[in-house]
Amino acid sequence: TTDPRVALVTGGNRGLGLATARRLGREGVTVVIGARDADRGRAAVRGLREAGVWASAVPLDVDDEASATAAAEQIRREHGRLDILVNNAGILPEATAARVADPLDPELFLRTFRTNVLGAVGVTAAVLPLLVRSDGGRVVNVSSRMGSLSDQLDPASPYHGLVVPAYQASKAALNGLTVALAKKLAGTRVKVNSVCPGWVQTDLGGPDNRAAAPTPAHQAADVVARAALLDDDGPSGSFFDADGSVPW
Ligand code: NDP
Repeated sequence: TTDPRVALVTGGNRGLGLATARRLGREGVTVVIGARDADRGRAAVRGLREAGVWASAVPLDVDDEASATAAAEQIRREHGRLDILVNNAGILPEATAARVADPLDPELFLRTFRTNVLGAVGVTAAVLPLLVRSDGGRVVNVSSRMGSLSDQLDPASPYHGLVVPAYQASKAALNGLTVALAKKLAGTRVKVNSVCPGWVQTDLGGPDNRAAAPTPAHQAADVVARAALLDDDGPSGSFFDADGSVPW
């Protein structure tokens, strides 16, 4: 009675992606981590296997369409199926303010959108034929409340003071992709959802983030895994965090 499901987690070599891979693996899912750096991918796989997870890595730079196509082909060849895609790879260049002279620098927007939005589009497109063939395909877009337009406008939000336009716009766009893709796939068994993992102890927010963030990655991985393991009667086109539904 082994779980036949196979999951791909992009940016799975560290941070929330690695914690999500471990969490899915503990449920018995076979995990493929996408890693743009082969050495970092191998090191992460070693750790996952030591934790008893069926894990392997594929080279995957989500900024590169050819890399996404090759990763999908490798998964098809090695596993013959894909049931879960976690679009986790993401960047927040605005966190290291010293390196960002102008928050409205078009290059900053291009870079951020390229990874956070087009990355998810490209990987999803590459593996969609496999997901549609699954008897219950799941796409999880790792988003953020900081991409919620209503949250950005709410003075009571803990994130109200944070203004990182490229990142926020990229996550809002990712949420737009979630809704549109969920509708487009409504006639299939594939479910597409956005999740906010909370403020997580990773390197994303710059050197001080780990100490400042309240949520350990293993705990944040729960909500990602919940969306990845949704039952057939679960939602599609939703946006939720650990406490429930998040407004768009
Ligand atoms: P980390 O910076 O710790 O990890 C990011 C991961 O994404 C790394 O594995 C990195 O790979 C990978 N990555 C970045 N760019 C690419 C690329 N072009 N191709 C492939 N992989 C790439 O961040 P987190 O774990 O915190 O972030 C994961 C996701 O969670 C992101 O989408 C983020 O926006 C989201 N999130 C995080 C929150 C937080 O508080 N940390 C809050 C809300 C959302 P490499 O090791 O090679 O750099």
